[in-house]
Amino acid sequence: MDRKRTGRIKIIVISGPSGAGKTTLLKRIFLRRNIRSSFIKGISYTTRPRRRGEKDGRDYYFVDKKTFRSLIRKNFFLEYQKVLEDYYGTPKYFLNKGRLAGKDVVLCIDVKGGMYLKKNVKRDKIVTLFISAPTAEELSKRLRKRGDMAIVNKRIALAKKELQFVKVYDYLIINQNIKEALSLLEAVLVAERLRRDR
Ligand code: 5GP
Repeated sequence: MDRKRTGRIKIIVISGPSGAGKTTLLKRIFLRRNIRSSFIKGISYTTRPRRRGEKDGRDYYFVDKKTFRSLIRKNFFLEYQKVLEDYYGTPKYFLNKGRLAGKDVVLCIDVKGGMYLKKNVKRDKIVTLFISAPTAEELSKRLRKRGDMAIVNKRIALAKKELQFVKVYDYLIINQNIKEALSLLEAVLVAERLRRDR
């Protein structure tokens, strides 16, 4: 997987409801050297409050709404969306970073952001992958562990809406067991890296 493709990189969009395990899977997959040597992960900007254990500049760049709006005006984002009460956006510069390193860019973004990119990026330059929890009950259980019931209910309602978009994604991974989900995610990334450019 050391083939350098400077200038011709792909965007790998990973979506799925909060609580499906996207963040954990991505953290773990990027510990693998073969993945790090071929992919970079975009770090989004968000206006949502930092959760315990999250670090500015590693998990997100945490900014206030005023700063976020000024970045929108400066055309700083490749895409951005409002998810529930907050804004989330992917900085454009990750594409350049990927191009310079010859690495594909992995973005963990919501379904609206994923659909926007699918529409606006050339078909052979974008791959979409949906990660889902095994059942709605399991998803609720995972979200409840995170606390704040008002937010949990909103996230469950949003998850139901997002699930309707599974059919337009290229790949679906059901995260029942983290070890198995990691192998599947690695398989998709490696296969996409090996794919001949058309
Ligand atoms: P969370 O608050 O749970 O970290 O993220 C909420 C949702 O926002 C998740 O679906 C996450 O993937 C999505 N998200 C994170 N960063 C971005 C981004 O830059 N753009 C878009 N459109 N969604 C994002």
